[in-house]
Amino acid sequence: MLSEKLTNALNDQLNNELQAAHAYTAMAAYFSEKGYHGFANFYLIQSKEEHYHAMKFYQYLVTMDKKPVLQGLTEPKNHFDSALDVLENSLAQEKSVTSNIYALVTLASELEEHATLSFLDWFIEEQMEEEKSFRDIIARVKAIEEGGEYFLKMDDEFAQRKLEA
Ligand code: MG
Repeated sequence: MLSEKLTNALNDQLNNELQAAHAYTAMAAYFSEKGYHGFANFYLIQSKEEHYHAMKFYQYLVTMDKKPVLQGLTEPKNHFDSALDVLENSLAQEKSVTSNIYALVTLASELEEHATLSFLDWFIEEQMEEEKSFRDIIARVKAIEEGGEYFLKMDDEFAQRKLEA
């Protein structure tokens, strides 16, 4: 039986993941407007992945006999100065999700909720990968000019991204 505190924290994370999906869709729009459809595709897939993460929390709550409760989304950042600005905001968002997951792990561990700890393991791995992925893209984009030849090569590369979930 999940405690009320842990149930609420898991439910908040369901909603945090939906908020992350919302934010990534807004980031996709920066690239769509500029005609960088590969980068836009990368962000639209990223948004779908966050929705999939949210549904993992949804299903976990249901499995544990708890009702998922949907909260309101807030308006995400809709204006960005550059591709690098979008990417740096993405990394900051992933770092914040990582701390949310860590806080959940700490709480589950204090409560000796082993099923929840096992469920959260997947997210710890996922966050490591997400942060690395954005750090790597930031390093590449920092070294080049937005809209330049190599940037357009990256745009072609990101056009290939497909939903892995
Ligand atoms: Mg996520």
